[in-house]
Amino acid sequence: MSPARPPTRDAVASPAVPLTLLSGGDTVLPGDTPDPDGPTPPREGTGRRGKPPRHLADLDLAGRRAAVADLGEPSFRAVQLSKHFFGRYTEHPDDMTDLPRTSRAALAGALLPALLTAERELSCDDGTTRKTLWRAFDGALVESVLMRYPDRVTMCVSSQAGCGMACPFCATGQAGLTRNLSTAEIVAQVVAGARLLADGQIPDAPARGSDDPPKPARVSNVVFMGMGEPLANYANVVNAVRRLTDPVPEGMGISQRSVTVSTVGLVPAIAKLAAEGLSVTLAVSLHAPDDELRDTLVPVNRRWQVAEVLDAAWDYAAVTGRRVSIEYALIKDINDQAWRADLLGSLLAGRLVHVNLIPLNPTPGSKWTASRPGAQREFVRRLEAHGVPVTVRDTRGREIDGACGQLAASASPPASAAPLLSARPSASPPASASPPASASPPASASPPASARPS
Ligand code: SF4
Repeated sequence: MSPARPPTRDAVASPAVPLTLLSGGDTVLPGDTPDPDGPTPPREGTGRRGKPPRHLADLDLAGRRAAVADLGEPSFRAVQLSKHFFGRYTEHPDDMTDLPRTSRAALAGALLPALLTAERELSCDDGTTRKTLWRAFDGALVESVLMRYPDRVTMCVSSQAGCGMACPFCATGQAGLTRNLSTAEIVAQVVAGARLLADGQIPDAPARGSDDPPKPARVSNVVFMGMGEPLANYANVVNAVRRLTDPVPEGMGISQRSVTVSTVGLVPAIAKLAAEGLSVTLAVSLHAPDDELRDTLVPVNRRWQVAEVLDAAWDYAAVTGRRVSIEYALIKDINDQAWRADLLGSLLAGRLVHVNLIPLNPTPGSKWTASRPGAQREFVRRLEAHGVPVTVRDTRGREIDGACGQLAASASPPASAAPLLSARPSASPPASASPPASASPPASASPPASARPS
């Protein structure tokens, strides 16, 4: 496929230009992105993509029982298969010794098809950060990142191959949307991380100066902050949250309170999420407190402006009791001015909120850079002066382009990275084989090129 062209100055600045470019040339506004019950097959250049194979994780337990019964097996086999996948992280028939030998291959073949193949794995932070580039059944490339900390293990997962939101500073946004990931394709990223941990492939990250024994190696947190706008793939993302958080054998048993779903601000979807009865954290990628600048940094802002997005976030907090996370990429001389800190502080003061400031991650060719340390400190100080809790996010994974703003599913490794798994030759073209081109500047700001602070 041909990736969508990166937005130009005019594309970013002019509301007449479509905000989302599907690869086949279809145009929709962000928020008009189809909201499927199943995997969506947006058009590719030469035809429609098929659906990923059905997988156990696409179904709830009742659906799995029915699927197993359709194969002529007793329905309790669904529970056995589910325990293998969600509890033991295995899809291999040879590991399923509690199943009759004669049934294993057929059951695994029908309900545990291989969805994602590791194309390349890159590691940094003494092996405690691991980024995996995955190739899906149709050649689409997505990435996930595992980060092991002394007290937790966080998986950052992708919800779409590419992204249609066209944020000009974002590596993912430069290539446009390829397609939504299925529920199982999202869940599989987390199960793969759990398997790495269970296999002892991710070293412990001991706390400095602590004699405490290492914490159990399991995925404790999941953040939907990889490739894609999660709420543009609403049904599959919500189903994935349920699979990740329902107890074994229904799901993986991760606490809902340890799951974060990010969005650039699709207001109707935020309201819908609030009504799901979930206790997940909502993270709003704001990046600017004023519409004039946000219109250029986050094009969907022309559809739902700052006040509407924040109102939806406060409604979410009121319904769920969960503190909203405001993500704000600090970009030198673009959005890091003291007056913008004050404006942001005044918008957030007194709310159930926490601000994550994200120093913009450098990417090759980008003219936009992280704020100066002094500007960052002043931004923090002014937010705190408004009584707004704020942290500056660490830049884990920066060396392997695994930090926020850098997930572009490029087939080429960053120059400094040492692959743990060599790229396999493949007949299929990568979703985004080219490095993101530098975006031209929005009208009111100097240009960013790549970063991914959703
Ligand atoms: S910042 Fe997030 S929403 Fe915007 S283009 Fe990148 S991945 Fe999509």
